[in-house]
Amino acid sequence: MPASLGGVKADMPRAPSFPGLFSFTSLVRACIKGHSSTISQYLDMQILTNPQELAAQCRAWHAQGEDIALVPTMGYYHAGHEDLMVHARGLAKRLVVSLFVNPAQFGPGEDLEAYPRNAERDAAIAESHGADVLFMPEPGSMYAPDHATWVEVPELAKGLCGQSRPIHFRGVCTVVLKLFMLTRADVAVFGQKDWQQQAIIRRMVRDLNVPTRIEARPTVREADGLALSSRNVYMTAAERAQAPEIRAALLYAQKLTQEGETSAALLREAVLRRWAERLPLGRLDYLSIVHPESMAQLNEVNGPALMACAVRMGKARLIDNILLRS
Ligand code: AMP
Repeated sequence: MPASLGGVKADMPRAPSFPGLFSFTSLVRACIKGHSSTISQYLDMQILTNPQELAAQCRAWHAQGEDIALVPTMGYYHAGHEDLMVHARGLAKRLVVSLFVNPAQFGPGEDLEAYPRNAERDAAIAESHGADVLFMPEPGSMYAPDHATWVEVPELAKGLCGQSRPIHFRGVCTVVLKLFMLTRADVAVFGQKDWQQQAIIRRMVRDLNVPTRIEARPTVREADGLALSSRNVYMTAAERAQAPEIRAALLYAQKLTQEGETSAALLREAVLRRWAERLPLGRLDYLSIVHPESMAQLNEVNGPALMACAVRMGKARLIDNILLRS
């Protein structure tokens, strides 16, 4: 979907190492040069595309004694993203929101090019939540053609989403650390919908002594329980109608745990039986019970335990999770 900002269509230069990507920079430049009247909406918020400009702005804020909160995103905002922004706005004097569909976290055949984009709407939302900067870099400015350095937390990334998306968390860690280095953010806010992601980032930050505090926010859901996701738009009406069953079955497993069931195998079976009946359009990617911090598989639920899943509904790959015991 070509992104548009203020009615200006994106031209599509190819990034050196990640061909086929749309450029947001040209949109923003066109907007700033006055091709669009919508820029007036963003007077209180800077749109930056250059990583060095972001770093300079953040250095200037820190020099003035102002602290910085960061919300990293891939855009196409929904109420889950908005919750992170609202929360982050209250944590520091300055709020940076990044919007970057990070090619390094998409494997071959994944939805990098199809990923939904709406830069104009996203900018309006970030501005409405008091962002001081919306950082929208081009892939080529984040990854040099000979980019060769990767950050990995393999122990936590090998299971769950990492099994079917083997390079995903390497891409996430690398871009998040780059954003931390550019902003020197005092605090960064992530969503618990991507539980494994926030667990991995917490471990990366601890292991590498990154001076950014990590906060995680509960999953924001539709009224019927479906976790909000930018990818929900991929679903057909029939798939969307069944999708709330993902959450319903996880709640059922939590109830069984509260009633005394401790066998991870039996809890999994109970969920899979329900899905066989009530989620016929779903294709299971994984359903796992793990320790919420170490991501290690559990056989028994007799301490902290997270049930996490990924289910494909047509073109959408949906993830969700629930704490069986905290
Ligand atoms: P994304 O743009 O999908 O990469 O997500 C950016 C941030 O928003 C991540 O920290 C996600 O965990 C978080 N997020 C995505 N969906 C939700 C949701 N439904 N509720 C809360 N946070 C979310």
